[in-house]
Amino acid sequence: MDLTPHPDHIQPAHMSDAEWQLRVQLAHCYHLVDHFGWTETIFNHISARVPGSDFYLVNPFGLNYDEVTPANLLKVDLEGRKVEPSPYDANPAGFALHGAIHGAREDIHCVIHTHTTPVSAIALKRAGFGHDDFYGAQLFGRVAYHTFEGITLFADEKSRMLDSLGDKHVLVLRNHGVAVGEMDIPRAFFLLWTVQRAAEIQCAAGAMAGDNVALPASISQRCSDLTAQLIREDGFAHKFFDAMVRQMQGRRGRRL
Ligand SMILES: [Zn+2]
Repeated sequence: MDLTPHPDHIQPAHMSDAEWQLRVQLAHCYHLVDHFGWTETIFNHISARVPGSDFYLVNPFGLNYDEVTPANLLKVDLEGRKVEPSPYDANPAGFALHGAIHGAREDIHCVIHTHTTPVSAIALKRAGFGHDDFYGAQLFGRVAYHTFEGITLFADEKSRMLDSLGDKHVLVLRNHGVAVGEMDIPRAFFLLWTVQRAAEIQCAAGAMAGDNVALPASISQRCSDLTAQLIREDGFAHKFFDAMVRQMQGRRGRRL
């Protein structure tokens, strides 16, 4: 059995430990989104800011999420243009949403955008997310909504999108999908998981006859406040992220 690491999994000599660790974690995040079935073929992005820089790591255009490795992640600027040589292509149009959020929000270092069926169904409904189920309650008062203006975020829409986002960390892109942003990759993944679970449950409940059990706003607010506090704590989202990576690796027998 050949245990020689693939070159894509070896830290280049010139690269800082901090950047390499970020690359490993981001590749894990791509694999987790694939593992949970939240991908949209080769489209969409997860972006992460390289520590101490205005550069960002993102998937090469044309690869499946499970083909992303620490070494093949592209380093791009806020416009989504490559700043280091790579045999792979960037997708600046697809990165525009990420670049706009990274450029405006100092507290967001990782942005994840998805088009899963449940999330896109919620994005299609005028009411957006409900807050009566366990996960929806955690999102009470934490979701922003942006009106759809077209497939790609053009320059003239950027300021309107940022106005829509405000100081929130979850942005429903109406008629489209969702974007979440947090201070690091595990926190963003944990937030995405909450959003995805709320959407799944609300789609299932919406297809069933009968009324939902409505929660008082005070209870939803308490749930939302607690989860917002937990995600700020060191280690909470990281334990979740690391456990999901172990689960994925155990089931797939893969090691990054
Ligand atoms: Zn999209």
